[in-house]
Amino acid sequence: MSSATAWTDDHFIAGDVALDFANTVYRRTPEMGADLLNNIDALTAWLRHTELLPDDARDPFEDSQAALRQARRLRELFWAVFEARAEGRELPANALADLLDAARRGVGSDVTVGSDGSATPLTAQGTLTVLALYGIRLALSPSSLPVRACDRCGWFFIDTSRSRRRRWCSMKTCGNQAKAARYRSSHV
Ligand SMILES: [Zn+2]
Repeated sequence: MSSATAWTDDHFIAGDVALDFANTVYRRTPEMGADLLNNIDALTAWLRHTELLPDDARDPFEDSQAALRQARRLRELFWAVFEARAEGRELPANALADLLDAARRGVGSDVTVGSDGSATPLTAQGTLTVLALYGIRLALSPSSLPVRACDRCGWFFIDTSRSRRRRWCSMKTCGNQAKAARYRSSHV
């Protein structure tokens, strides 16, 4: 088994936790071996990094392989829905319906929602429900929260730039690579 991804703040650049979760793969092509959510330890470490899963939670998932499958499925639903938003299309009904199903799982037992509207996972399983709720919140949010996809790697982010023309997930990675590529192509 490959070793779990070591998450750093560079993996959390989207400005929204649901988009950060969607960004746990490069170019949204896990079959090409770029899946950062490569095993259950990577998933639990991601959930801890976001503080969705408390540090002291032990033996988090009852069935870790099932949880990993559910997490990856949730991520696919996010891709379908957020890609539509990024491209200015109507949200795909099937993906949205499946996302709503994922968001109702365990409400009341694995997840509680407080008077301020904040969802709290009570179990590890509940963290996936909370993620689905966050996904729906963003999917249905007003267009003042513009979802974009990086021109280079496909990662999603909320474009809060003043011009609303941000193209890269991060200047540190894709932005600089794009600049370097432009430089090379203009100096041959
Ligand atoms: Zn990028």
